[in-house]
Parts: sequence; structure tokens; C-alpha cells
Amino acid sequence: MRLLEEKISNNGKVLSDNVLKVDSFLNHQIDPKLMLEIGKEFASIFAGEGITKIVTIESSGIAPAVMAGLQMNIPVIFARKRKSLTLVDELLTATVHSFTKNETNEISISNKYVNESDRVLIIDDFLANGEAALGLVKIVQQSGAQVAGIGIVIEKSFQHGAQKLKDLGFRVESLARISSLSKGKVTFINEKVEEMI
Ligand code: 5GP
Repeated sequence: MRLLEEKISNNGKVLSDNVLKVDSFLNHQIDPKLMLEIGKEFASIFAGEGITKIVTIESSGIAPAVMAGLQMNIPVIFARKRKSLTLVDELLTATVHSFTKNETNEISISNKYVNESDRVLIIDDFLANGEAALGLVKIVQQSGAQVAGIGIVIEKSFQHGAQKLKDLGFRVESLARISSLSKGKVTFINEKVEEMI
């Protein structure tokens, strides 16, 4: 997605060879217009998949997921990283190790909102080693629902998450795919060049 790649190039900060900071439009301050375009893009990519719900994880998955839900006219459920006192229903849970925070969280959603009649689109802000997405897959599968696809805003393709998820048979669609963050520079996988090879 050209607009997203430009935003990453102009506003992203490379913190190390494997961490990109995008606090100015996605992870802290949010650019609503960009989120709307991201939502439209996910809706167009996954049209025809018969998706009935979107599942994401707090907090940075929520903005793109809500915009996609708005475009697709379906509800959005976000997994919580901490138990909430008001979440008294039966919980579906999975353990996720956070790549950026280096901590392990039990993530959960209420079984009230996803069930075996649902086809679920999983959305997240970043895909690195695939831990967060796999945790969401486990939760969705516990509910009996089907995972119809995984939509990622920024995929770091030099890490193994995307391949792992594809090898498990999931459709993974990422709006920006980064092949390298080395020497402080963001390099994208150029779809056109890829098609020509
Ligand atoms: P994974 O679980 O795929 O290893 O990592 C994905 C999760 O870690 C995302 O939910 C995201 O919050 C965080 N993450 C992974 N890599 C980055 C990164 O380079 N920058 C930021 N801001 N978050 C990241």
C-alpha cells in the first residue's frame, strides 16, 4: 500500500536492525485518515471471504481493526492482555510472548462474542515472529470459529512469522512488507519487482 509505505519512510524511526517505531501514526498518536484507508484496503482484500467478525489484540491493533470493521460492517473484538474485572464470562485464552516488551502475557476474549458460526479475520499492527497472531489463531479456534485470514499492517518479512503462518495454511495479507531495517534504513519488498522475477 503506497500511502502506508510513504508514511513509514517519512515518519518511521528505525530503532535497531529489527525494531521500527511508528509512534507518530499507529502506536501512540494515530492518523485517522490513514487508518480509514487501511480499513478500506483490508475490506477490499478480504471481500468474498464471508467474514463475520474481526479479532485483534489491544492496543495497537484496535485502530486498523475498527476501520476495517466499519468498512465490512461487522463487529470487532479485541483480546485483552490483562484480566478485566468486568470480563466475567467464560474466557478463551492463549499465552503470547511479546517481541518488543520481552514479557509473556495471557491474552483473552470472552466466549460470548465468537462462536462456531463465525469466519474470523485476524488483524494486527505488526507481524514479527508470529506470536501475537498465533495466540489469536488459538483463541479463535477454541471458540470453534474458522480463521478466514490474517491482515497485517506492517510485516517485517525478514522475521519468520509470515512464513510460519502461511506454512500452517493461513492466508496472510500485509499492507507493507519490510525486507530490511539494517543501517537505519527501511527497505520494502517491491511487489512489481517480485512479479517480474
Ligand atoms: P510477533 O508476535 O509477530 O513476534 O510480534 C508482533 C507484535 O509485537 C505486534 O503486536 C507488535 O505490537 C509488536 N511488534 C513486533 N515488532 C515490532 C516493531 O518493529 N515495532 C513495533 N512498534 N511493534 C512491534
